[in-house]
Amino acid sequence: MIKWEAHACLPLHPQADFSPIEQFHAAGVNYVSINIGMDMNPLSQVMATIAGFRATIAASPQRYVLVNSAQDIRDAAAAGKLAIGFDLEGAMPLLEQPEMVAMYRSLGVRQMHLAYNRNNSVAGGCHDEVQGLTPLGHRIVAAINTAGVLMDCSHTGRKCSLDIMAASTAPVIFSHSNPLALVEHGRNVTDEQIRGIAATGGVVCVSGVSKFLGTDKPDADDVARHAAYVADLVGVQHAGIGLDISFPQANLNDDPPGDYDPTYWWPRSAGYDRSAIARSTYPPIDSWQVLGDALQRTGMSADEAALVLGGNMMRVAERVWG
Ligand SMILES: [Zn+2]
Repeated sequence: MIKWEAHACLPLHPQADFSPIEQFHAAGVNYVSINIGMDMNPLSQVMATIAGFRATIAASPQRYVLVNSAQDIRDAAAAGKLAIGFDLEGAMPLLEQPEMVAMYRSLGVRQMHLAYNRNNSVAGGCHDEVQGLTPLGHRIVAAINTAGVLMDCSHTGRKCSLDIMAASTAPVIFSHSNPLALVEHGRNVTDEQIRGIAATGGVVCVSGVSKFLGTDKPDADDVARHAAYVADLVGVQHAGIGLDISFPQANLNDDPPGDYDPTYWWPRSAGYDRSAIARSTYPPIDSWQVLGDALQRTGMSADEAALVLGGNMMRVAERVWG
């Protein structure tokens, strides 16, 4: 059984410490998708981050494998190694060039959003005016399909996410999004969006972020409750886990350079507060050890829980990554 963590965030800095990633492995996770950039990060920062993370992975071949295929994940698990892929949160680091998708793929990016909370020239964000997929966006979805990268709609606007699902020829996922029916928040997704993902054959991976789960101190049962909602709505084969745990490291500043304004990307009007007191909390990493039990407490069988923990994302990866 493969356990798949669809989204984790280290500092976007080449020297980021990978010990939190090691903790996922210790908690039984077999594959983790690590963020290497968002729309607010310039290409220079994204490339430096990719280079640094690749070097860290390459320096520990006995522990880590940067994977190309679902089979690589099974092989890594059999060898006692942690499988890793990178994800990019937004199309702005593509510089409006669909050709950049294949280049990112060759560097280890396995999963991509088109927008991060705000609109750009490609797609609409979830905290902005309604904007659909643009003509350039259609070309980029095609490039993502051709390159064999997971098409991810987390952080994307509602209308645009439905446009992407209609345009994509491959299954589409939400790597870290929760049901709006359970918690009212602009980052959470409607039943229509969840049905749309299921219609593509994709997976809705629910996050562990406190404000999206609607609880101050989230645990495995909170995550399981949200996954069970997806399973009840569209079938257990369309639910997954992407806890979105963020690991700030005090000695590393990963703020984008220049006139970066966090309140543009995380607007106060959408309920974000960057003060230390109001910062998001997450379930502990080792809740991965008890998520299976928590899913079964919602009424799933052990086999159904295994699908949610990773079987479903393995099915999609087989199909998308080739
Ligand atoms: Zn995110």
